[in-house]
Amino acid sequence: MTRDRRELILAELGLLPLWVPRGRVQPSLPQRIDPVPLDEPRLQRSDEPEERSARILRSDWPKLKEMVKACTDCPLHAGRRQSVFGVGDESADWLFVGEGPGAEEDARGEPFVGQAGRLLDNMLAAIGLRRGHDVYIANVVKCRPPGNRVPEPLEAARCEPYLLRQIQLIEPKLIVALGKTAASNLLHTEASIGSLRGRLHQFRGTPLLVTYHPAYLLRNLVDKAKAWEDLCFARDAMTKLKAGQPAFA
Ligand code: URA
Repeated sequence: MTRDRRELILAELGLLPLWVPRGRVQPSLPQRIDPVPLDEPRLQRSDEPEERSARILRSDWPKLKEMVKACTDCPLHAGRRQSVFGVGDESADWLFVGEGPGAEEDARGEPFVGQAGRLLDNMLAAIGLRRGHDVYIANVVKCRPPGNRVPEPLEAARCEPYLLRQIQLIEPKLIVALGKTAASNLLHTEASIGSLRGRLHQFRGTPLLVTYHPAYLLRNLVDKAKAWEDLCFARDAMTKLKAGQPAFA
């Protein structure tokens, strides 16, 4: 790659200049705030969990969208303007999974349309991808957690069959988990992003890699360089996967 091209891509990703002023305070990840008590009667289960999951896992795209739109199976539905299903190419090779909708996503009904979404679009552009073109974007939870807090385990569990069905229908070649919530829910681990990135994992047989969430990167500029490494790793893995070569080698 020429120097000019590399600089162009790094600029797209917001990686230039590759330094952070000394002494800059790096804010930490968003904290859990305003938790919704889980034992409130708002948690109305429309049917038994297995039956519900089985119904979700049998559904086609239109039915799945309808179910997500009408879902009231966890407390998050109470605070949403609308559910945010996912967006993109429904037979994409790339699937990016985030945490859950924020305020702008809740208003517009599309994932990653706020500031973090603009960075995600730049990250995609850096490896030659564009939203909607061979790329699908989804979240662990489809409704906005209040105050943008991390989804509670029960909320993520109730939404899990929706994401699972999306993955089954898309059949991506590679899943990119954006941040801790996506990584921990897809891989069922509490390990840190730092320890999970840099290698391929599997989600039910589909290669999966982990990188930082764009919202985290907006606050932690130094880790953008690591995200850039992850994206290059993802691009190389996809090249192998598309060529039918073992990506885990
Ligand atoms: N953060 C996410 O994880 N998902 C979105 O859709 C928006 C912000």
